[in-house]
Amino acid sequence: MAQKIDGKLISQSIREELAEQVQKYRKEGRRAPCLAVVLVGNDPASVSYVTGKHKACEAIGIISRDIHMEEGASEQEVLNVVKELNEDDQVDGILVQLPLPDHIDDQKVLIEIHPDKDVDGFHPVSLGRLAAGVPGFIPCTPNGIIELLIRSSIEIQGKHVCIVGRSNIVGKPLMNLLLRKGSRGDATVTVCHSRSKQLSTHTLQADILIAAVGKPQMITADMIKPGAAVIDVGVNRIEDKSKKKGYRLVGDVDYHAAFDKVSHITPVPGGVGPMTIAMLMQNTLLSFEQRIFGKG
Ligand code: NDP
Repeated sequence: MAQKIDGKLISQSIREELAEQVQKYRKEGRRAPCLAVVLVGNDPASVSYVTGKHKACEAIGIISRDIHMEEGASEQEVLNVVKELNEDDQVDGILVQLPLPDHIDDQKVLIEIHPDKDVDGFHPVSLGRLAAGVPGFIPCTPNGIIELLIRSSIEIQGKHVCIVGRSNIVGKPLMNLLLRKGSRGDATVTVCHSRSKQLSTHTLQADILIAAVGKPQMITADMIKPGAAVIDVGVNRIEDKSKKKGYRLVGDVDYHAAFDKVSHITPVPGGVGPMTIAMLMQNTLLSFEQRIFGKG
């Protein structure tokens, strides 16, 4: 029988640790850390993500600056806002909520964020630092996954990890994190994607299986090695007429079928998701510390 990895609980204890740290700095007479969140338009999912980020900041004592631009804002206007935030000494982290409206190039905007304020860790400089194994901001979801494993006492060193999914925001940075030297890494990593042949021959080798695909319940119990730890990153809506909204959220793993076979498993929702915001808060505090003390 598996142990459920409670991402909500783990993220809550991280948030409490961060809040204590912020409180300590405030008592020493320092300013509060500040995260600027840029939202363009009114996409309901984006509005809800941004609201979650503001609330998390507030609970920890981080100032969240809300920059809400109209759907029709031009690319140049968004770039100008990012430039101003880059130059603002009071701002420690800049986050541009993706996706941006179609007429704005996401990559062009992300590259404009100064790497020293890139708390999402999506700037090519941050991704390059991670690949080179030098300090820099680590993308929040992969960082949250490592934290979940460590805080659940799941050993990573020397283990075979199979990641299904090779995106720039999850699969690839996670691969680089797991390959780093030291107790938070030192894994043997296989990365699979839509062109991988006989997916189950790879997933069945994994001591730790991480699914980041975006396909509801595509990882079935017969694809998982008995006793493996399973991290489900996927967030998928499936129709459910019994729910008020008409749908429910499921992961990429068939959770109930896998449960009796694995050692640990993350639920969806309540697994990886809450960790992503906690790691964003952590990156913002790190950025603040670098600015104030030159730590890092
Ligand atoms: P992407 O769509 O960018 O990447 C999906 C990956 O899955 C691609 O590498 C793709 O391969 C691979 N893939 C697709 N179909 C298959 C298949 N049949 N077999 C094997 N591999 C396949 O997604 P993201 O990485 O952005 O997100 C993945 C999931 O994680 C989504 O459900 C997303 O909502 C969720 N997510 C959750 C977060 C959280 O905080 N909980 C944060 C970020 C994402 P190829 O490269 O060949 O196309």
